[in-house]
Amino acid sequence: MKFRTGMAKCTEYVDLVQLVLDGEASRSQEVYLKRHLKMCLKCLEHYKLDQEIRKLVQLKLASKEVPEGLADTIRTKIAKSA
Ligand SMILES: [Zn+2]
Repeated sequence: MKFRTGMAKCTEYVDLVQLVLDGEASRSQEVYLKRHLKMCLKCLEHYKLDQEIRKLVQLKLASKEVPEGLADTIRTKIAKSA
């Protein structure tokens, strides 16, 4: 993926959010994203929502109480509100 030192468009941070939450981002990529999250509410919301989705998915794996397709439903809502 592209990695610049200057400001990128918000859409370019979406992939970075996934990388950081997956624990696959490098230290500099993480710093790069976190710096943007301090200034950008939209990306911060996206980050928090994705974090919540991951927790829900983990809960779903741990128990069967989370309805099937919930993560997809939330993702669709995010996509529509973006
Ligand atoms: Zn942003």
